[in-house]
Amino acid sequence: MVSRVIPVDPFDLVIFGATGDLARRKILPGLYRRFLDGQMPPEARVIGAARSAMETPAFREEVRAAIDEFVAPARQDATRIAEFLDRLHYVPIDAKGDTGWPELAAQMRPGHVQAFYFSVAPSLFGALAERLHRHGIAGSEARIVVEKPFGRDLATAQDLNRTLAAHFEERQIYRIDHYLGKETVQNLMAVRFANILFEPLWNAQFVDHVQITVAETVGVDGRGAYYDTSGAMRDMVQNHLMQLLCLIAMEPPYCFEPDAVRDEKLKVIRALDPVDPGDIVRGQYRGTGPDDGYLDHAGNPDSRTESYVALKVHVSNWRWKGTPFYLRTGKRLRARTSEIAVVFKEPPHSIFGEAERWRENVLAIRLQPNEGMNMTVMIKEPGPGGMRLTEVPLDMSFAEALGESGTDIPDAYERLIMDVIRGNQTLFMRGDEVEAAWAWTDPVIAAWESRGDRPKPYDAGSSGPEDALMLLHRDGRRWREIRA
Ligand code: NAP
Repeated sequence: MVSRVIPVDPFDLVIFGATGDLARRKILPGLYRRFLDGQMPPEARVIGAARSAMETPAFREEVRAAIDEFVAPARQDATRIAEFLDRLHYVPIDAKGDTGWPELAAQMRPGHVQAFYFSVAPSLFGALAERLHRHGIAGSEARIVVEKPFGRDLATAQDLNRTLAAHFEERQIYRIDHYLGKETVQNLMAVRFANILFEPLWNAQFVDHVQITVAETVGVDGRGAYYDTSGAMRDMVQNHLMQLLCLIAMEPPYCFEPDAVRDEKLKVIRALDPVDPGDIVRGQYRGTGPDDGYLDHAGNPDSRTESYVALKVHVSNWRWKGTPFYLRTGKRLRARTSEIAVVFKEPPHSIFGEAERWRENVLAIRLQPNEGMNMTVMIKEPGPGGMRLTEVPLDMSFAEALGESGTDIPDAYERLIMDVIRGNQTLFMRGDEVEAAWAWTDPVIAAWESRGDRPKPYDAGSSGPEDALMLLHRDGRRWREIRA
């Protein structure tokens, strides 16, 4: 299958924070890959901006090194890299100062799509937005891209929204949640809304429960002090897991337009019940060696911040009343995996007799590694010996199913940046969505903070705290194994 590359209009993309980690690892290598695939028209330019004093040639050398490190060797071509680097420019700018802005203004071309990627700390968003306006750089059609964390609670998210709204309209603001840029996540919408197969079963009558797991093997090393002010609930559940839950639970939008999709996601968030404190398990990992535990890196030996959280969530609407959604995410777990599993109910009666136990049908959607989908079904065990049942997977790995085009699935960031250039906000969070997610999260966090609970310890390399197993056991269910 040949993948279709849809061209975009000429653009000027300004990356504030172009010398930072995110720009180096994701944004700039991703842009090179889009360039290789013919998605950067000849007039398109990328302008890096950061505090570091540097000339354009030095910036290009930094980007060359980033491509060397973060792009697969098979996609590195010296001639093409040189052509890409020619499109890059650099302007030293302090977001809080007033130098550099006229130089940036001089780089912008009339008639080009203007996009400004704020790949800097959120505390700088206001200063950048204000100066882009004051210096007449951002026009009424300009787009700005902002990164997580979008606030640390409802009040700070509202502040950020107000700050951006002072200079930009909602239609110009692209709040990135890179989980939404993943191929599988979008495929989830295709599977749900481009097939008739699942919709009749996609409700509390047929779905026993849903599990959403985002497990990491890495710890907080290096960024422990920052992480300690956040924790798994703020860092992962409020945004990434919530977005996945929305895509599973939402009603079919009337069309695939940004607000039609985002309206339906918002309804899901608003339908979430407050979480019962007994339905939450928080954990903190213990190290396997010296200086290896969470507390060794948190900068606070008495930290009560969770590096793991598991919770049972209810969506109170006609479709989902009675079907629990179990969410879990954590660091230093057994394997790196992100998966959504829709576990269907058992058939009401076995015509094969009690001896022939069946397992539930499960639709598992893997986000990483090996993006793909897998459906387990019961069949007859092959061979003589009567009607014995066995479970088999119907497996669809995108890389295998889509042949060559599947092996080079664009990174989530590449896809999302191209959506910004196209002016398509479907895969970006709207301001009210973010605020609704915080409005649901805040009381959960406030409840445990007021109790001063300590998170349960768990061993690095395990599946998380024992109590998290109990969260499902007591409902007669089991977590799926965390495996790569
Ligand atoms: P970083 O490595 O600390 O880089 C920060 C960037 O901001 C640098 O380019 C720095 O430029 C620039 N900067 C700092 N102060 C500035 C100022 N006053 N004026 C202009 N530029 C300034 O941070 P990062 O990891 O790239 O993260 C950037 C944003 O993305 C943050 O909001 C972060 O939360 C978010 N994010 C990052 C990741 C990730 O994987 N890294 C993932 C998700 C979200 P100089 O070095 O030249 O001063």
